[in-house]
Amino acid sequence: MIVGGGPVGLFLAAELALAGVTPLVVERLTEPDPRKGEDDRGITARTMRTLAARGLADATTALAEAAVRRLARLADPSLVDTPKDLPALLESLGMADVKGDFAMLPLVDRNGTMTDLSPPLMVLQGEFEEILACRVAELGVPVRRGVEVTAVAPGDDRVTVTLADGSEIETAWLVGCDGGRSTVRRCVGFDFPGTDPSMVARIAVADIDLAHGFQRLPTGMLAVAPPPAPSMTIEFDPDPTRDGELTAAEFEASLRRVSGTGVTVREIAAPTRITDNARQTSTYRRGRVLLAGDAAHVHSPIGGQGLNLGLQDAANLGWKLGLVAGGRAPESLLDTYTRERHPVGAEVLRNSRAETALLRTDPQIEALRALLAELPTQRHLVELMNGLHIRYEPGEHPLTGTFVDDPHALELLRAGRGLLLGGHLHETAAAWADRITTAGGEDGVLVRPDGYIAWAGTDPDGLRAALIRWFGP
Ligand SMILES: Cc1cc2nc3c(=O)[nH]c(=O)nc-3n(C[C@H](O)[C@H](O)[C@H](O)COP(=O)(O)OP(=O)(O)OC[C@H]3O[C@@H](n4cnc5c(N)ncnc54)[C@H](O)[C@@H]3O)c2cc1C
Repeated sequence: MIVGGGPVGLFLAAELALAGVTPLVVERLTEPDPRKGEDDRGITARTMRTLAARGLADATTALAEAAVRRLARLADPSLVDTPKDLPALLESLGMADVKGDFAMLPLVDRNGTMTDLSPPLMVLQGEFEEILACRVAELGVPVRRGVEVTAVAPGDDRVTVTLADGSEIETAWLVGCDGGRSTVRRCVGFDFPGTDPSMVARIAVADIDLAHGFQRLPTGMLAVAPPPAPSMTIEFDPDPTRDGELTAAEFEASLRRVSGTGVTVREIAAPTRITDNARQTSTYRRGRVLLAGDAAHVHSPIGGQGLNLGLQDAANLGWKLGLVAGGRAPESLLDTYTRERHPVGAEVLRNSRAETALLRTDPQIEALRALLAELPTQRHLVELMNGLHIRYEPGEHPLTGTFVDDPHALELLRAGRGLLLGGHLHETAAAWADRITTAGGEDGVLVRPDGYIAWAGTDPDGLRAALIRWFGP
């Protein structure tokens, strides 16, 4: 059973269904949150490859093209009717060399050292979730909307879940994908250590009588845009009230403090308040209960990492839990979930904290930003922000633990099974035919369903050991 039908819960549901174990998804909201439809999210290069491995990359790219076209239309209305692909559209916006940003510092390829890298693709979260919801429906996974989980009681071989109407559901395994304020996390007693907010960003669509554009001021940051684009302030003396919706009066007061003017705000739309509250559970599993996505980690949304991190959690967990819940692999396989994903989450929290530090507007940080912008290449940061550096446990072969990049291999992963390349090794893998697709190739490479290489080499004994370890005996 999966609690939470947000992007992570939906993606995990599809992964489990592909692995032959159909979960029940329960989601508190009766309808998708309409506000998500208006929120841009960056999908990173590594996530795009994960989506390619499930045949979802083209639909996601189409959303990104539509988003860039909207941006192009705002910048230059004459571009509207020119059908162009994404690279051409980015070129027309003068963004061809921009590979992303770090703490709002553009990461620009000034000397051609990053031509192989691309920036995250911006999509509307609501539309992206719709792609996932369609996939879940195609796979026949039941999603019960308007169902809220209020209590979770784990036992030795079952977990009892209480719903808001008082009814109970028993499940063998439970995954909390119920967001940053996770009920599952709280009920099951996962810790959630981390750092308190040091900044607050207030974002809303409003007609503001201030110069449009972006300013870094000693009092904070100010981004003013004409509706329907949102405007934003960032202040580093956080308001302790983090609950309740941002009001026009609060937004006005913040705009006045940052801009030093007497600006007035009468009406706001799509109000959001975000902070750099950064926390992560020390384990992602307690017995039969697991966490994925924001339920396991929260951090500042600036930097655009959370959705990607959560989708990668789901990609890592889905096939493992499928094998374990289906009785084909031992429970110990699930221990690799925390072992592999916790360090990745911790690193995102570290990067996110570094970004918050770099957002500050004092003279020392301005100097640091200038230095960073002068570095001959920002390749490391681009790779970091796209999750391209992620490598799980290395092995004897240099490919072990890396992500398979070959587009043909990604296509062969679509059914969510493992993949063995290397004709001479097929006989060794014959006993795993229900879990592994085999294909030709000179080099022996065993790819996990999530696209990471479990083993590479020529020795059948090494392959057999890897098959047992990752796919069960
Ligand atoms: C302003 C902003 C900008 C962002 N930009 C980016 C970006 O560019 N790139 C990026 O990668 N990330 C970004 N993020 C982060 C991203 O939106 C989140 O990390 C992502 O939505 C997490 O997905 P999730 O499925 O884990 O949680 P959620 O999206 O929060 O979904 C959790 C679901 O669980 C349901 N639920 C909660 N409690 C219960 C319960 N008790 N019973 C039943 N259902 C329950 C909720 O209704 C919800 O639908 C941004 C976030 C914000 C706020």
